[in-house]
Amino acid sequence: MDERQIRNTIVIGSGPAGYTAAIYLARANLGPLVFEGAVTAGGALMTTTDVENFPGFPDGIMGPELMGHLRSQAERFGAELVTDDVTSVDLTGPVKEVRVGEETYRAKTVVLAMGSAYRELGIPGEKELSGHGVSWCATCDGFFFRDQDIAVVGGGDSALEEATFLTRFARKVFLVHRRDTLRASKIMQERAFDNPTIEIVWDTEVEEAVGEDGRLATVRTRNRRTGEDGELAVTGLFIAVGHDPRSELVRGQVDLDPEGYVRTTTGTATDLDGVFACGDLVDHVYRQAITAAGTGCMAALDAERWLAARE
Ligand code: FAD
Repeated sequence: MDERQIRNTIVIGSGPAGYTAAIYLARANLGPLVFEGAVTAGGALMTTTDVENFPGFPDGIMGPELMGHLRSQAERFGAELVTDDVTSVDLTGPVKEVRVGEETYRAKTVVLAMGSAYRELGIPGEKELSGHGVSWCATCDGFFFRDQDIAVVGGGDSALEEATFLTRFARKVFLVHRRDTLRASKIMQERAFDNPTIEIVWDTEVEEAVGEDGRLATVRTRNRRTGEDGELAVTGLFIAVGHDPRSELVRGQVDLDPEGYVRTTTGTATDLDGVFACGDLVDHVYRQAITAAGTGCMAALDAERWLAARE
């Protein structure tokens, strides 16, 4: 690859946001170069099983299969895909520099689509049972737990929102929290306290997710005050202890909000001219594959218009 070449655009990330941006940029004849990431290429959906809420798949589709389709679609229109991690960037000048180790790539515009990582509990069984009872997304997976007993871990607004949402499906929702008070807003707390389907398990940490025939069957717990071990017979464990946007790469260059999400101004534009951001990297609220894809499309159109205005 010619190091001195200045491309129209570089996309960083290969989740629904990055690939959708790549499809639009490629179809606009802008020859996007896409850094997919090394270990996490394909993004968050590579770690899940059934995706039943992505429009266009009436029978649902497996996460990795969906991402395979998006990848092929981007490739078909000529996006250049590199399965590597971007290690540093300089986005402040008119020519943006994107580095992978010793190699530097240059472009007029950059689309940031690095997503966000959900926080894990770091307990045995968590990874193995992900997509088989252990979940990080009530909106995505709540439907699979009709008339079942489930647990939600966390004490903030999202945990309470997820617990309340899950009562639409579940027979019983245990909200497991490590302290004796919740961090969530008063209104969310009241909603949860008033909901007869929610039982709050105070002062308790989840210690292990235990499977049976490859699916979650029990959650082992420990009371932090009494030291007592316990068990919850649940088929679902929703982990809602927070997300970390993957914005380290651009920290100190692009404007971030206090939680580390990239701030956008008009559409997907960031405070840096020619730099656009999309997907879960900017989104604390919706965090869905379809919204990530939607903002990926917006970022591509914004970049395309930005380039056209400077031709
Ligand atoms: P991501 O999918 O997180 O992709 C980020 C990309 O950035 C990755 O490709 C990564 O490799 C890349 N990247 C990061 N850093 C670098 C770097 N330095 N260099 C190069 N590349 C980099 N949503 C639904 O709508 N339906 C569901 O059923 C559903 N199920 C889910 C199940 C699980 C287990 C999880 C975790 C999420 C689920 N979601 C679901 C949410 C959905 O996956 C996310 O909202 C969506 O993937 C966000 O897309 P994104 O493109 O913004 O980021």
